[in-house]
Amino acid sequence: MWKAEDSIELYGIEKWGNGYFSVNEKGNVVVLPNKNLYQSVDIMDLIEEIEKSRDLEFPVLLRFPQMLEDRIDEITGAFMGAIEEFNYSGTYQPIFPMKVNQRKEVIEYIIKYGAKHKIGMEVGTKAELLAALSLGLPRYAPLICNGYKDEDYLRLALSIHNLNNIIIVVDLFEEIYDILKYADAMGVVPRVGMRVKLFARGSGRWVESGGESAKFGLSTSEALELMRILEERGLTSSLKMLHFHIGSQITDIRTVKNAMNEAARVYAKARKMADIEYLNVGGGLSVDYNGSNTATPSSANYSLQEYANDIVYTVQKICDDEEVPCPTIVSESGRAIAAYHSMLIFKIIGRKNAKSSPLRPPDDEAPMQIDDLCSAFKEINIDNYKEHYHDALQYRDELYDSFNLGNIGLEERAKGETLFWMVCKKAAFLAKEAGDESDEFLELKKLVSQKYIGNFSLFQSVPDMWGVEQIFPTIPLHRLDEMPSERGRIVDITCDSDGEIKRYAGDSEGLEYLEMHPLLENQDYYLGIFLLGAYQDTLGDFHNLLGCAHEVHVMAEDGEWYICQKVEGDTCKKLLDFFNYETKDYIWEIMDRCVTRKESIRKRELEQIEAELNRTLKGYTYFITRPPRQSKKKKKETERDLGQRRPEALKG
Ligand SMILES: *Cc1c(COP(=O)(O)O)cnc(C)c1O
Repeated sequence: MWKAEDSIELYGIEKWGNGYFSVNEKGNVVVLPNKNLYQSVDIMDLIEEIEKSRDLEFPVLLRFPQMLEDRIDEITGAFMGAIEEFNYSGTYQPIFPMKVNQRKEVIEYIIKYGAKHKIGMEVGTKAELLAALSLGLPRYAPLICNGYKDEDYLRLALSIHNLNNIIIVVDLFEEIYDILKYADAMGVVPRVGMRVKLFARGSGRWVESGGESAKFGLSTSEALELMRILEERGLTSSLKMLHFHIGSQITDIRTVKNAMNEAARVYAKARKMADIEYLNVGGGLSVDYNGSNTATPSSANYSLQEYANDIVYTVQKICDDEEVPCPTIVSESGRAIAAYHSMLIFKIIGRKNAKSSPLRPPDDEAPMQIDDLCSAFKEINIDNYKEHYHDALQYRDELYDSFNLGNIGLEERAKGETLFWMVCKKAAFLAKEAGDESDEFLELKKLVSQKYIGNFSLFQSVPDMWGVEQIFPTIPLHRLDEMPSERGRIVDITCDSDGEIKRYAGDSEGLEYLEMHPLLENQDYYLGIFLLGAYQDTLGDFHNLLGCAHEVHVMAEDGEWYICQKVEGDTCKKLLDFFNYETKDYIWEIMDRCVTRKESIRKRELEQIEAELNRTLKGYTYFITRPPRQSKKKKKETERDLGQRRPEALKG
């Protein structure tokens, strides 16, 4: 008997889930936003509620704000634990880097839940700075300004210097002249940091962010020059922070150790020249997306505690050695804070390459190749599958030759294709039985696996899957007490052949297939893509004009769960507006054109065109499976609900 535990094991849920996900005895995925078994969300109950309320179609992006809180607690806790263990004389300061997720609701949650740890923000552009300012970060919370800085950026940062805990990080040496010029003109004493280039490099995909050739950071001589310039102007105490960032998703702990050794040494030497308060170790703390606990690109070979220990211990040791005070350690662990909190739910809306059509027995006049394919299918077995498969390839080629010469018709061609396909399927099955790992049969297995069409856009919701081939765990959300008997691959609804999930969590390289359940006649099949909270929200694009998905934010408290906020996704109209189509008069223009095109157009026909245009424009950009049948009155209410974006959870 297949049990929920078997599914947990099969899909590696405990390996990548960090304690936030499990499967209950009903075979449904449950979410534990604060890792508490008594505060769990049965995902199928939630799906039912969303379906019942009829205001939102799938795909739906779920957010669990409590996971953001839990991650901030965990990361801060790991550093505070290390600080205690090593008797470190400084403290720790968490920072959220905005570029990881700039969505307003997400930043609001982070500011709210991170307040107890005095969480600060890091911004890299003017727009990010404006966004951070709009959300009321407390005055004491550091607001670190990074990136390329023009006059507007610098003047804005300096103008609010005395009302916020702003630190302007010099990423490129020349910036210091502008900072000092505008600060002088505006009469402010600036607080600056300097980003240094380390010789040590990151590991994994973003290795280029570090090392000598990195885009940002000062060389040793530039750093010394910067300190000299500050000293010359009596501004030595303006240097508050030493910063480095060797790349995101650092998969190998040795890289962290190497970088820390070097960075702590740089800090200690510089500390002898200036009262530097913060040592900012940047981002890089990895998320184990495939659950393999290895140094492969979608994983990490270390734990959060190990990371914190290595950093605190190294800084401590080197500061002792150099006899300088220990700094406040700052980390900007964006990915590790945000990744877990969101997931996408979508439905399977069909199958591709089914390639099984009804087959009638060959008649007497059937071409020879059909007879041959028929016997290949009948006779293929575990001892001769290779031979018969090769024969079948040849018969198929002959069949197409014959068709191209006009000797056989469409009927026969169809029959031949179906038979060939049946031989392939059987051959793939037999090769698996025989443990045949040859390239030829691995390729064949891929060819005959089913493709399932998922109602989502990979480019919009999981851009890194396409862009950098990152693995995001994708699994069925229910029927997990049933043994999955099908192997499939998921494609999205874009018209792009890259819109396919090519790797599934399960081992370090990623599996090529997802173990799935046979589709049922009258039941929807729901899948989830997990760990989408870092980078995916704003990296996503509008390929094929598929827009943002609807969002549902869920909290669990006192043994219950509730939806604390809904955020409506994009309508077709919104996308057209975004790409400069004027939708204001769109309907009238089209109707005008209809009238001029056809002199005697009936009123009914016109009305119908108008109605269809109207409905499609206002509708969701994704495949709508069940048009909502709402009364007018109910609809008004939902619109009002959605208008109130300010979540309950944030009031008070
Ligand atoms: C991107 C970035 C981060 C975030 O890195 P993660 O690996 O997501 O934690 C932190 N700091 C700086 C300066 C960055 O550019």
